[in-house]
Amino acid sequence: MAARPLIAGNWKMNGLKGSSAELQKIIAGARDLPPATGLLVCPPATLIAGFAALARGSRVAIGAQDCHAQAAGAFTGDISAEMLADAGASAVIVGHSERRSFHHETDAEIRAKALAARRAGLLAVVCVGETRAEREAGHTIAVVGGQLAGSLPQGGGNIAVADVAVAYEPVWAIGTGLIPSTADVAQVHGFIRRELGARYGVAAAGVRILYGGSVKPANAGELMGIENVDGALVGGASLKAEEFLAIAAVYR
Ligand code: PEP
Repeated sequence: MAARPLIAGNWKMNGLKGSSAELQKIIAGARDLPPATGLLVCPPATLIAGFAALARGSRVAIGAQDCHAQAAGAFTGDISAEMLADAGASAVIVGHSERRSFHHETDAEIRAKALAARRAGLLAVVCVGETRAEREAGHTIAVVGGQLAGSLPQGGGNIAVADVAVAYEPVWAIGTGLIPSTADVAQVHGFIRRELGARYGVAAAGVRILYGGSVKPANAGELMGIENVDGALVGGASLKAEEFLAIAAVYR
């Protein structure tokens, strides 16, 4: 089964209640997109319940940007995958490079979060990607391979396509306007597909591998046309409905 495209927006720590106007524009614009294209908006946790209520019955799914691995307990300030599902989320980003670097998250913690997402019935969007220094040293494949080995749920054949997606996000491409060459994206995405195959068998063909890092309407067509790129994880451009929809519209 081929992967269905997914365009996911990571709003990061941006958005107040008034930002629901932007979501409403996305919901309205999504009606014109082909039914196979999935749209996911991941606002800050404070907006999830309100956004989920607005998006109910629409083409737009609502997700979170992180979760705790435990279902409940004495973890001040944290939010569990079950709480996110209860608020109306259907997906959660785990292991974003900003959490790996600012919160020192390890691969093992990220895997525990991905498993928590599965426990709660959420799609886990597991982020991987090399730093500029790692790329310049020729270590991209080794770094991404290590992150996949450490942070993906092991599966053993019982992983469903709805459980996990991978986002390849070169750290040096996030928010910089820089993007890797087409050949470099193809190489890493092909490698990720083979690694997924080794873990999940035939189900791997349907697991979405998103590209993330400075995706804009102007470059989305080229990036989304690369083999094994099944969509995008979009940061800055996801905050503007017109830009987010223009990126999704490359799947026509
Ligand atoms: C991101 O942070 O996941 C991201 C891809 O950001 P941007 O699109 O702004 O580079």
